[in-house]
Amino acid sequence: MNCYYHHGTAGSASCHECGRTLCSSCSDRFNPILCEGCFTSSQSSERKEIVKKFTISGILLFIGMIFSIGSGSLGTAIISTYFIAAIPFGWTLISRILSGWVLFMGIRGWIIYPFAKLLASWVIGGFVAPFYLYKMIKRFKEINNDMNTVIQENADLKAGA
Ligand SMILES: [Zn+2]
Ligand SMILES: [Zn+2]
Repeated sequence: MNCYYHHGTAGSASCHECGRTLCSSCSDRFNPILCEGCFTSSQSSERKEIVKKFTISGILLFIGMIFSIGSGSLGTAIISTYFIAAIPFGWTLISRILSGWVLFMGIRGWIIYPFAKLLASWVIGGFVAPFYLYKMIKRFKEINNDMNTVIQENADLKAGA
């Protein structure tokens, strides 16, 4: 079989995601070995996840501000707003820890679980938010760079052909 992208070149590997045949220059592009289509779609879905999390956090920040204004001192208002906005980040951590475990719970677990998870996210979120914020912003920049590289490479290929 020849490369999916280069019809004149013999394939030497295949995409780990969809199995398309790739030549050696195509299989060297990404790690793990992916075709361009699978690479860009996985990057853009990851980017969407990050944007979603920041959007939810932004909405919670707004809600938290409305509820905190006028209640107690400015210090407590800031702290409580911060903890509300940090819920999505606590949620991320708890989801990671509990993934798989949820499947073994009974029906009662399924009812209690979302509330318990929300409460735990609220408690933990504020402590892990700075770490996740840093990580997600860094990842977001990486994805944008990778996507730009792919676009640039394609433009170079077209110019060269
Ligand atoms: Zn693929
Ligand atoms: Zn190729």
